[in-house]
Amino acid sequence: MSVISPPDYALKILKTLEDAGFAAYFVGGCVRDNLLGRRPRDWDTATSAPPEQILSIFPGSKPTGLKHGTVTVVTGGKHVEVTTFRAEGGYADHRRPDSVRFISDLTADLSRRDFTINAMALSRAGELIDPFGGQTDLKARLIRCVGEPEARFEEDALRMFRALRFSAQLGFTVEAKTAAAIKRKAHLAAFLAPERICGELEKVLLSPNPTVAAEPFSYGLMAHFTSAPGTPDAKQLRHLPNDRLLRWAGLCEALERGGLISDTAAFLAALRLDTYTVRTADTGVALALSGLPEDGANLKRLLSAYGTDAVRCAAGQRRAALSAVLDSGECWSLDCLAVKGGDLLALGYKGKALGDALGFLLERVIERPELNERETLLGMLHDL
Ligand code: ATP
Ligand code: MG
Repeated sequence: MSVISPPDYALKILKTLEDAGFAAYFVGGCVRDNLLGRRPRDWDTATSAPPEQILSIFPGSKPTGLKHGTVTVVTGGKHVEVTTFRAEGGYADHRRPDSVRFISDLTADLSRRDFTINAMALSRAGELIDPFGGQTDLKARLIRCVGEPEARFEEDALRMFRALRFSAQLGFTVEAKTAAAIKRKAHLAAFLAPERICGELEKVLLSPNPTVAAEPFSYGLMAHFTSAPGTPDAKQLRHLPNDRLLRWAGLCEALERGGLISDTAAFLAALRLDTYTVRTADTGVALALSGLPEDGANLKRLLSAYGTDAVRCAAGQRRAALSAVLDSGECWSLDCLAVKGGDLLALGYKGKALGDALGFLLERVIERPELNERETLLGMLHDL
């Protein structure tokens, strides 16, 4: 496995903490990505220094998550999260620890982390600290809980979604005991905030393996969002562009076709998606289920009535036909009609009559694109 050397600004943070007498390591996602030969997005750091010490060692650093011991250090325009080693105690609500205790032991900090591949640390000298077999699991491409999976999911039910999310992002398999525990503890997902579930699902949808989005449903993790159990047929997600709106719509279409949900808008709203996504995906799924028209003129009528995004959501396998219409430059909306409202006002049209006249012209132009010339259209009005 190749190891990318950490950037100087991040190494300097470790050195500064060590010079002040504390232990400091890169931890979590950056160590995992590094061992996979992927450039980490950020270089999260863990240290034995208590938060107030971190703040005083790095002037200008910000207490961004002091409750959890996280301080953001800014060096040369880069942000690095530095977090004090910690232990967590009690998880009465299955989603966050009742208490957090700052400690000086790295291994104890690693042991509270979710999966073996996320529970490794890297020292400034390049030494890998891997007490739970993370490297072996990386090689075997496995997502395995640190410790007893059932207990870990009892503590924090989001970890079940995270297991599937990492399996989608990395193309890994969820290890058998971990997978069995997800099945048994799936009901605990009901304790989670919908926005956090939504965040994990979206990461799956936008990963290189979006079809994994079927798995939270087959494991029973989504029971409180669906009206019937089952596994959606999510195969077509793989063929959609990597676009959040299209992929949410694709998932909802599969869920409606599979009878797991009957109302895309209600499903997405329950997951706290934004209003635009809820409405557009809902319209798109309804159009997809009723079947898109074959011919260009009818596609243009749909675009005119529902907008580009909703029709893109609906197009699915018929994307080429839609692209042909969108790329043709042919007019399908009032925005590109060669006659504007002002022209009709000048001719004495008002209110509903004006709207009807524009609608009439647009309909002619959708049928015959070559008519979209100002003089031609005004002439047609005259005849009318
Ligand atoms: P990404 O590249 O998606 O950010 P990541 O591994 O950095 O991946 P984060 O959610 O940023 O994931 O979390 C950082 C680290 O914190 C994880 O690698 C893991 O060690 C630990 N962690 C995060 N969430 C949990 C959790 N719910 N339970 C246990 N450990 C967690
Ligand atoms: Mg991260």
